[in-house]
Amino acid sequence: MRDRLERREFLRITGGATLAAAATGLVACASRGLVAGAPTGDAARGGPPGSGGGGPPGPAGRGADPAGTPGLVSSPVYKRHLEGVPHVETPARLDAIDAALSVAPLAGRLLPIPPRPATEEELLLCHTRAYVATARAESEAGRTALSTGDTEVSRGSWPAALLAAGWVMAAVDAVVAGTVKNAFCAVRPPGHHATPDRGMGFCIFNNVALAARHAQRRHGLGKVLIADWDVHHGNGTQDTFYRDGSVFFMSTHQWPLYPGTGRADETGAGRGRGCILNCPFPAGAGRAEILGAFQERLVPAADAFKPDLVLVSAGFDSRRDDPLGRFRLTDQDFIDLTDVMLGIARRHAGGRLVATLEGGYNLKGLAAAVAAHVGALTRA
Ligand SMILES: [Zn+2]
Repeated sequence: MRDRLERREFLRITGGATLAAAATGLVACASRGLVAGAPTGDAARGGPPGSGGGGPPGPAGRGADPAGTPGLVSSPVYKRHLEGVPHVETPARLDAIDAALSVAPLAGRLLPIPPRPATEEELLLCHTRAYVATARAESEAGRTALSTGDTEVSRGSWPAALLAAGWVMAAVDAVVAGTVKNAFCAVRPPGHHATPDRGMGFCIFNNVALAARHAQRRHGLGKVLIADWDVHHGNGTQDTFYRDGSVFFMSTHQWPLYPGTGRADETGAGRGRGCILNCPFPAGAGRAEILGAFQERLVPAADAFKPDLVLVSAGFDSRRDDPLGRFRLTDQDFIDLTDVMLGIARRHAGGRLVATLEGGYNLKGLAAAVAAHVGALTRA
């Protein structure tokens, strides 16, 4: 019932039912935004296509301390999702990120994390068996979109979705093992709109939610904190943990905007009461509102919650000049947000932090913001 009410409210507020609706006409401009002069794509990565290996920008430099080196996750497999399909959530997003991370000062400082796909059983940590079967059947059948919501798919979407979920879990494994200090996962499709039984908003499986459950079940980490600075509310993550209590979810997002959830009075229920912290802000909000929410609302909440692991739904469509949002965050703001999260991780979680890519559709802006974010991770 709650979902039905929220969807109706979204329709009323925005007059549209899809995340892509706001991007109409912007795909062409988005796909021109590659970082000029930098190597891109598979050539920059050096890994054989389809191997899933060799994420950019190559292994940590000689003499680097792996334990102090942020892990990085990327793979050509992610580019098979919506390959050749005109869409704002384009494989070119990863080309732009790869290029930005392949040049100084980050080149050679990042340690690729060995890839692996999630098993279908692992997907059941957060998703229903019926939805997993639907997502697989519809992707492999060559449908253009999932029947569950506004998530376009192609034949390459299924392996990409499995690898996105599995690699974020692998990043958790690496951080827990101490192989790397923290990790940024440049994966697609994104995940935070995917609910337990529904893909929507460009998302198939909820990568960050699966990582949280994996950390709990595989590593016995009892409490996980997820912060989401994407311009859109992470409705799927909220739905997954709304009544849970072992996962604290905080989101800053533009309101009103897709998907229409994330009101301040949505705070969790049952055992999860008080474990959802929504901070909606109007179009035009920037550093004062969003960094302020992280510093003044999330930090005390996190200090009370005392997480064993910190996860970040790192969406960069909250940066200024994004075609899908109207927030005004700068690259310096992403550095400062990252530092807030690193501080929480350091105080409570032994420094364990894994960030995973969500939105970000201005390719030049995405590349610059990711470089700023990853640069802050390297200084942890
Ligand atoms: Zn978004």
